[in-house]
Amino acid sequence: MKLLRVDMGRLEVRWEPVSPVFEQLGGRALIAKLLLEEIPPTCDVLGPHNKLIFTPGLLAGGGVTTAGRLSVGGKSPLTGGVKEANGGGTAGDTLAKLGFKAIVVEGQAQRGEWYVLHVTGDSASLLPAGDLMGLGTYATSDRLQERYGADSTVISIGQAGEYLMYGASIAITGDRDQRSNHAARGGLGAVMGSKGLKAIVIDKPLGKSIPLADADLFRTASRTFAQKLINDPKLGTQGSQHLYGTASIVGAVNEIGALPTENFSRGSFEPATELRGEHLRELVLEREGKVGTRCMPGCVIACRNLYVDDDGKPIVGTLQYETIALMGANLGLNSLDDVARLNYMCNDFGLDTIETGAALGVALEAGLAKFGDTESIFALLKQVGEGTIIGRVLGNGVVTTGRVLGIRRIPAALGQAMPGYDPRSLKGNGVTYATSPQGADHTAGNAFGARKEVNPLGVQGQRELSLKLQIIAAMLDATGLCLFARPPVIADPQLMVDMINGIYGWGWTKEDLDRFNRQVLRTELEFNRRAGITAADYRIPEYMREEPLAPHNAIFDVPDSDLDSVFETL
Ligand code: SF4
Repeated sequence: MKLLRVDMGRLEVRWEPVSPVFEQLGGRALIAKLLLEEIPPTCDVLGPHNKLIFTPGLLAGGGVTTAGRLSVGGKSPLTGGVKEANGGGTAGDTLAKLGFKAIVVEGQAQRGEWYVLHVTGDSASLLPAGDLMGLGTYATSDRLQERYGADSTVISIGQAGEYLMYGASIAITGDRDQRSNHAARGGLGAVMGSKGLKAIVIDKPLGKSIPLADADLFRTASRTFAQKLINDPKLGTQGSQHLYGTASIVGAVNEIGALPTENFSRGSFEPATELRGEHLRELVLEREGKVGTRCMPGCVIACRNLYVDDDGKPIVGTLQYETIALMGANLGLNSLDDVARLNYMCNDFGLDTIETGAALGVALEAGLAKFGDTESIFALLKQVGEGTIIGRVLGNGVVTTGRVLGIRRIPAALGQAMPGYDPRSLKGNGVTYATSPQGADHTAGNAFGARKEVNPLGVQGQRELSLKLQIIAAMLDATGLCLFARPPVIADPQLMVDMINGIYGWGWTKEDLDRFNRQVLRTELEFNRRAGITAADYRIPEYMREEPLAPHNAIFDVPDSDLDSVFETL
């Protein structure tokens, strides 16, 4: 395997053999190690010493279902610590098939100069990107695919990344004209913008496959893994995840009182029925859109949809739970059409819908518009793409928005907006938000699926649950697997071991895999420690410890001693 270094200061690319330090790492694990080894932890996130890393997970390229996610990493503008954000599309699989361990973007171009990195597999070059500047991610992807082929993969930023907004995401194209995949969290789009890199284009690898150390072992394990997902009652072809997508949980989150409503001021939203996955499916099918679509070829869960308007015209490539929560209930909006349009705008500007939805919620609390006032909310979001002062405030995320507008109720942990689960009514998630080296993140150890195991409103058992889920999340993110592939991985870790050994022949045991997963977290925590992040920085905001959340009048009451000892047994 090889590593491609891209020096944006010198406008040079160079190939390197993979150092033994990085050989048995991929995805989130590789990002953590590269950060610790190569990035000064206290560096300016938008300066030349931060690096931007694109890496497939360890299982990418071999056709393992849901395993082709692309991990993007660097020091996060929002948290000031380690960040790995991953997205679907074809980039992860493509890079693995081309034999890439990672692309590492270093230095930065002269201010005002912008480039596209074109990768063909054996060569790579930096080309001027002048004609793409000011374009959103959809137009950027379309234009580059016209130029380099419809089957090339495009990774790009929109206006938010160009403006170096801390809420900026990175868009990744999928199969054919599939869009709406984003490595969204942590503000990595701003890091890409700070480098002067508008986009990366990777030519489709023709006739390439990854070498397999033990093809029989690999194929047997990967087939069993896929079959277990197909047979899973929630994930398989008759499961809610497939039929209704991630929106299938809107009703359940609302019922447990954890659905962020009107800037996290309530945990349930009366018109939530209008936002439920069942309603979404009905609408989409009635309008001849699509349900059961996928972000990556070969995914057997297929949780996505093509959300269309009344005339059957596509609005957005998928409408997912987190966006519905943060840009729907959190803004007092009960129309999926409105949420889909806001989602499209965020995708095009290259913005994280969680960070932006939370920032808008704070702006509404400050009186910039009324909750539920669709037109005013659209007008606010439009300003992000235009780069007006208020647009720049919103685009820099929920903490900046709260500070500028004088709002104390800021739903964030470690500088990053909370996803669609209020931690007062789902305390396991609160523990994850308050301890994960990734900050408040729905993929870092989400306890919603374990609510029957541990009472979401109770304190007991949350610490242990969060640690268990954080370790599993680290494994999923390091191997390139989708979060929704979690059940068979928990039930049968030997499958993971067999798939990894089948590709690489490392002779790992389950204990080795467990050590590997834990080491990811240890490395990340160490980077954050060296970056100067302390326990106080991770905490859940004070108002959530004091302000009861309807309907259960819950507060976040997990003691600090529990939070401080989550990683004691890591
Ligand atoms: S389950 Fe959904 S998000 Fe996960 S890989 Fe499949 S389509 Fe993508």
